[in-house]
Amino acid sequence: MTKGSDLEEKKEVGQKKIGLFGGTFNPVHLGHLRGAEEIREAFGLQEVIFIPAALPPHKMTEEIIQSHHRLEMVKRATRKNSQFSTSDVELKRPGKSYSIDTIRYFREKFKDSLYFILGRDAFVEIETWKDFQNLFSLCNFIIMARPGLIQGSPLPGALAPAFRYDQGSSGWVHGSGNTIFYKEINFLDISSTKVRELVEKGGSIKYLVPPEVEAYIEKHGLYQRGQVKSYELGG
Ligand code: ATP
Repeated sequence: MTKGSDLEEKKEVGQKKIGLFGGTFNPVHLGHLRGAEEIREAFGLQEVIFIPAALPPHKMTEEIIQSHHRLEMVKRATRKNSQFSTSDVELKRPGKSYSIDTIRYFREKFKDSLYFILGRDAFVEIETWKDFQNLFSLCNFIIMARPGLIQGSPLPGALAPAFRYDQGSSGWVHGSGNTIFYKEINFLDISSTKVRELVEKGGSIKYLVPPEVEAYIEKHGLYQRGQVKSYELGG
């Protein structure tokens, strides 16, 4: 798979394990990258595809900068990792970015095992996601959690009856055979909100984002105070 490019032209067949990591990435930061790397290693994934959202259904869109900037920062941040790549599939799709559409797209594209990666903060809202009951028939899920948080079943009540716990894999297995895994990671205490606030205040974001992202934000004057924060479809 070509590094740093989108996946439009690629058709692959095989039994790889591929991670799908969606997010607003406004901007991508070291917490995202470290989380993806730990999950890649722990689950033996051959690839993690970062998928910036165009219009995330659950976020305030006025805070979100143009998608071409967010995509470019993700490309630059992931370029040096041969097992990371980037997809613009959600940016090309009109309207809101629903994960079920993205998972269906990759399900069509790859015969490989797919693992949708997300943080626990995002997973606790899963019952508000479009078609959430059908998500688990399509792929596996890996929930990244902060150390010490997992106690008992982490599944939201409405989901629980559709799953059984499997000691062997330490995962919750769906009727379809797909599994939800919980994985504690070194959840770095970094958020895109924190990065944006620091830039707006004129503070340093060194060691919170990769140097390529820091340079890109500076060069394009992103997240500056007084800057018009407006969303434009397709950047
Ligand atoms: P914001 O502060 O704007 O809400 P964010 O930092 O949470 O943004 P997102 O792009 O919304 O970043 O997150 C994409 C995915 O990465 C989500 O599944 C989220 O749970 C996860 N994530 C966010 N921050 C971290 C972190 N520090 N470590 C690991 N995963 C993270």
